Amino acid sequence: MSDCIFCKIVEGSLPSTKVYEDDDVLAFRDIQPAAPVHVLIIPKKHIATMNDVTDEDGALIAKIFAAARKIAADLGVAESGYRLVNNVNRDGGQVVYHLHVHLLAGRKLGALVQPDVS
Ligand code: 5GP
Ligand code: ZN
Repeated sequence: MSDCIFCKIVEGSLPSTKVYEDDDVLAFRDIQPAAPVHVLIIPKKHIATMNDVTDEDGALIAKIFAAARKIAADLGVAESGYRLVNNVNRDGGQVVYHLHVHLLAGRKLGALVQPDVS
C-alpha cells in the first residue's frame, strides 16, 4: 500500500522509534503520545481495519498480543497496568487505516470513553 504511512514505516521510508520487531510485527512510539507510554503495535502486512482480519490471520493476531505482553514487560508497566485499544472506522476514531493496537500506560488511565458530546 504505497499511500499508507504505516506501510512506509514498515519499509523504513518514514522514520519511527521502534520498540519491538519480529518477522511479522512491528511496534513503535506514537508520534503524539496520549500517555507516558504510548506504543503502536502493527502487523507488517497491510490490513486496513479489524473488519478486514480473516481466520487465516489468527496466528498474526496472536503475535500482536504476544508483542504487547513483551513490550509491557520490557517497558516496566506489566504490573502497574496498561490498556490495549483498537479503533475501528469512523465512530471508533480510526485515523490511520492500517490495523494497529495502541498500548497505553505509565499513569492511571481515565474513562474508557468520553461522555457523549454528539
Ligand atoms: P487511530 O486514531 O487510527 O487509532 O490512531 C492513529 C495513531 O497514529 C494516532 O495516535 C497518531 O498519533 C499516530 N500517528 C499518526 N501518524 C503517525 C506517524 O507518522 N508516526 C507515528 N509514530 N505515529 C503516527
Ligand atoms: Zn499499510
